[in-house]
Amino acid sequence: MKKKNLLSDQRVVRYVKRAGKSALGILYPPRCPLCDRIIPVGKDRVCGECRGELPWIIQPYCLKCGKMLDRSEKEYCDDCLKRTHDFTQGIAAFRYAGKMRDSVQRMKFSNRREYLDFYAEAMVWRAERWLFLWRPQRIIPVPMHWMKKNRRGFNQSELLAKKIGSLTGIPVMPHAVRKRKNTKDQKKLSGQERRTNLKNAFEVSADLSDVQSVLVIDDVYTTGSTIDEISRVLKRAGVRNVFFLVAAHR
Ligand SMILES: [Zn+2]
Ligand SMILES: [Zn+2]
Repeated sequence: MKKKNLLSDQRVVRYVKRAGKSALGILYPPRCPLCDRIIPVGKDRVCGECRGELPWIIQPYCLKCGKMLDRSEKEYCDDCLKRTHDFTQGIAAFRYAGKMRDSVQRMKFSNRREYLDFYAEAMVWRAERWLFLWRPQRIIPVPMHWMKKNRRGFNQSELLAKKIGSLTGIPVMPHAVRKRKNTKDQKKLSGQERRTNLKNAFEVSADLSDVQSVLVIDDVYTTGSTIDEISRVLKRAGVRNVFFLVAAHR
């Protein structure tokens, strides 16, 4: 009697597991990362309507930070002409505008982390030529303070870095740079305040003595102060060139 009960319990467990698996597609159907509408399984990652509206960054763009420029005769954006960055060079897949901005907001604040697959593929597609030139030896995500990561449940840059690592074969060091200071939210701060806020916020917690070039991954580039600060600590640890690849550029 006891044996029979056990058997039926296991069957129930198996049944629930199977049902759970097939229910996943119903509970979490694939959604278009730009408009959040449900799209057919196995089709494109983006719906037909949004495909034509993807705000790709196209030429001309700043040769330092990847920001899209308004005139083709310029080589650098106004920001990069005004100040020196600590990173070597970087690019972005998209402009942080319209549906793309809404998409990033939903990903972060409504836990739509499934969008990150689409971002990572777009970033790799966009960066292919540059990765060939830069030849980064390691991928390092922009870290999040552990308290913030606990609150959100994930660090989007870390997830992006891991996906990009598996798409490109470049080794990922998810914890090589640690955020030791729980800094104020950068959004409300000016350029100078951002830099002060981030001072001594990061530290290298891995041996990078053999690494000469690194690719830093983040979701959004705003003023570059975060990537600059990370570049400074990486350079102090012996890295010569710090490149970056982000999903969207403000
Ligand atoms: Zn769509
Ligand atoms: Zn620039």
